Amino acid sequence: MRISAHAAATHAGRKRRHNEDAYVERPPLFAIADGMGGARAGEVASRLAAAALEDNGVAAGAPEERVVELIQEANRRVFERAHEDASASGMGTTMTVAIVDDGGVTIGHVGDSRAYRLRDGALQQLTDDHSLVAELVRSGRLTPEEADAHPQRSVITRAVGTDPDVDVDAFTVAAEPGDVYLLCSDGLTDMLDDGGIRSVFEAHPDDLHAAAKGLVNAANRVGGDDNITVVCFAMDDDVPQGDTVVGIDAPTEEDTLHGMAALDAPTAVAPPEEERRGLFAPALLGAAVAAIGVLVWLVLR
Ligand code: MG
Repeated sequence: MRISAHAAATHAGRKRRHNEDAYVERPPLFAIADGMGGARAGEVASRLAAAALEDNGVAAGAPEERVVELIQEANRRVFERAHEDASASGMGTTMTVAIVDDGGVTIGHVGDSRAYRLRDGALQQLTDDHSLVAELVRSGRLTPEEADAHPQRSVITRAVGTDPDVDVDAFTVAAEPGDVYLLCSDGLTDMLDDGGIRSVFEAHPDDLHAAAKGLVNAANRVGGDDNITVVCFAMDDDVPQGDTVVGIDAPTEEDTLHGMAALDAPTAVAPPEEERRGLFAPALLGAAVAAIGVLVWLVLR
């Protein structure tokens, strides 16, 4: 399996002056962080957490351990800064991280940002929100509909950076060709339900950049109450051996080819059919040379 495309979009929304969301788009590492705190401390928290991920990157080892270590390192940095700087006291951030490897997609998660998977037209939420209302729904004391309208629906029960240690949910899901994974802040999911998110992807089936922008625009069209951030990536079959690809096991190649550059580079993202055609032509040439050889031998004989 390989990452065939990826895209991100972020917007402050229509009610907030500042964007306190941050994201990481460094395949095979993707993440989203939604900061909270007085003044602009939320912005500091989410950016510190995202920078911690970018600095540390994906190292060898079990991906579930890696994803927990990455979020715990982000937690240390935000917590330490909050203690050094009185204006940042109490700041924190959500964090939802995805690492892609051969085994699938490993998710690490704290807070109420979300990871979804779109497969065969069905959208599935992969993460459980660490929020007050989600816990009340899980214990049967609120219905999902009541939770959606609850005045305290944005109160989270776990955050990165508010305590010396953080409890991280970590799990791996098997990927299939055609899967699209979406990481997003609550500024998207408070505005759009599953059907709303799905219909944006359906409108842009082969263009993740357009889908990412479309999600932000759709959330803004219905109010844009909060900062909106989305990061998405699509999975596809490996191309045949020997090709230069944006491979999930080739992080150095990846680093030079992320973002628009990767998508604009035709050799990097050529579909398998193109590559097979490339392999087929020399075989035809060989057959032609052999046929000419036989003809020459017959004439000379
Ligand atoms: Mg938010």
